Amino acid sequence: TQAEETFQYQAEVDRLMDMIVNSLYSNREVFLRELISNASDALDKVRFTSVTAPEVMKGREELEIRISCDKEKGTITIEDSGIGMSREQLLSNLGTIARSGTRKFMEMMKESKGDNNLIGQFGVGFYSAFLVADRLRVQTKSHEDTKQWVWEAKAGSHEFTIKEDTEPSLIRGTRVTMFVKEDAAELVDPVMLSRLIKQYSQFISFPIKLFSPKKDPKKVVDEEATKRKQESADMKAKEEGKEETTPVEPVMKTVYEEKWDWRLENENKPIWVRSPKDVSDEMYNEFFKQTFSEFLDPIAHVHFNVEGTIEFSGILYVPGMAPFDQQQQQLKSKSIKLYVKRVFISDEFDDNLMPRYLNFIKGVVDSSDLPLNVSREILQESKIVRMIRKQLVKRSIDMIDDLSSKEGGEDYKTFWESFGRNIKIGVIEDQENREKLSKLLRFFSSNSTQQADGQMTSLDQYVSRMKAGQKAIYYMASDSLEVAQSAPFVEKLIKKGYEVLYMTDAIDEAVATNLLKYGDFELTDVSKEGLKLEDSEEDAKKQEEVAKDFKQVVDFLKKSLGEKVEKVTVSDRLTDSPCALVTSKFGWSANMERIMKSQAF
Ligand code: ADP
Ligand code: MG
Repeated sequence: TQAEETFQYQAEVDRLMDMIVNSLYSNREVFLRELISNASDALDKVRFTSVTAPEVMKGREELEIRISCDKEKGTITIEDSGIGMSREQLLSNLGTIARSGTRKFMEMMKESKGDNNLIGQFGVGFYSAFLVADRLRVQTKSHEDTKQWVWEAKAGSHEFTIKEDTEPSLIRGTRVTMFVKEDAAELVDPVMLSRLIKQYSQFISFPIKLFSPKKDPKKVVDEEATKRKQESADMKAKEEGKEETTPVEPVMKTVYEEKWDWRLENENKPIWVRSPKDVSDEMYNEFFKQTFSEFLDPIAHVHFNVEGTIEFSGILYVPGMAPFDQQQQQLKSKSIKLYVKRVFISDEFDDNLMPRYLNFIKGVVDSSDLPLNVSREILQESKIVRMIRKQLVKRSIDMIDDLSSKEGGEDYKTFWESFGRNIKIGVIEDQENREKLSKLLRFFSSNSTQQADGQMTSLDQYVSRMKAGQKAIYYMASDSLEVAQSAPFVEKLIKKGYEVLYMTDAIDEAVATNLLKYGDFELTDVSKEGLKLEDSEEDAKKQEEVAKDFKQVVDFLKKSLGEKVEKVTVSDRLTDSPCALVTSKFGWSANMERIMKSQAF
């Protein structure tokens, strides 16, 4: 056997462990959730590996998690028959951090300044075991390594050791033994552990077995009572002058025998294969938080079972807030977990399963029509995947549409603030769903900004308020609400009773130009030349006269400004302002020019 070797943690791990211990003290029971979820991940991995390499299952067929505790030794043990770790993996996995969940935790610490209620809901990973353990031992055996290894570390230390394990072989998997701190001794108790498993790990889809006692009822003869009964029967017989006494029927009693055994603690039937009527809103929310390490409830969910040419089921969610790190989210969002016949395949197929603009939607999808050894290549080619994707997009949009029509509108407001941008990108990129997506758009307008609560308006609401005979939807694009509101072009329209949408997001103009029309109404930029309002004939005549009167002024201005302007005309678009600079009908608007300049096109 090799000698024991000592290693230093990566500096970031030291910092993380300090943070965990300092901030999670009152939530220290989360350690169990973290270790169970690691065991479940390891089981997912071995099940997936066994699809193409069935030999990895040899010698240990059952995929399960076993938890036990020993009051005398003060230990809690969590063992899985999962993928295990080779020496190399052990060294890098339990010595560094490379997880998005941890980054999220660190961000949260900065933002909330340590709100314990929220922090307790973060997945902080393996190191949370040090919340309750002053010493940790990890024994592990991987099919990729001929030897079994043991990793050991003490709480508060900057180093850990690795050596070959001499205990009997695990065959495959990992056993984590926690030597529990004295002040956490109450956790070394099957009743306590059972409660924690039910609270935190109810959606784990592998059996979790707890070694625990159960009191089995047993009928035995109650010697005492039987004796008393016999005595009184004898006495009675004597009184009656009988010589012989007959033995009485024995009196029975129930005793409880404590029997220790591995007992199943969870239902382990995936929530998405259950019937929606058997799943409560609380369960959907819990599943979301446990599965995606989220700490706020989702604001919407949809659970579906598609039958017919293809069969698949799933649950999709709209999260309660945007991810902390938008950039990170774009790179690898791990938003959709793909299962094939309940076997977890991967959560890194996002682009194949959802268009980029919907990557904020989280969920699980389980298909029985895909091969278990599905790869990225297969996903890209597969007709089934294209059909699934189409359904997921449709269901996502419908879910958002339902949210938008929910009473009160608060949730949709939250949604729009977090993900409105994504919907706009969808209008631009997803031609097939453009119409449905356009119903979800919200803008400020000359109408909404006059209202006290500054509510945004949908295009449908705009249309419902349109003047009789109005043929277009008017908008003003600018970089702020103030500028849009006080633009000279807007004045006249408002004065004439038209509503003007204020497009203040850089992307809005691209949305309008891609959309072109909403229903029968053209989206019309009020800052462009040639804006025609539905004026009366009288107005038109008057306009002609005015143009004649001002001919000299117009000529003079064109002559003096020369090349600086394309042309000078008399306009009927202003009321209080004497003049305005406009862009030609076919040119970039002033706002677009500003955006282009800022992006250095
Ligand atoms: P995360 O689970 O988010 O990756 P953790 O800190 O919980 O982060 O775990 C770190 C890594 O250690 C895991 O990614 C995994 O590679 C490894 N690991 C932890 N527990 C186990 C286990 N029971 N079996 C196999 N590998 C494990
Ligand atoms: Mg983990």
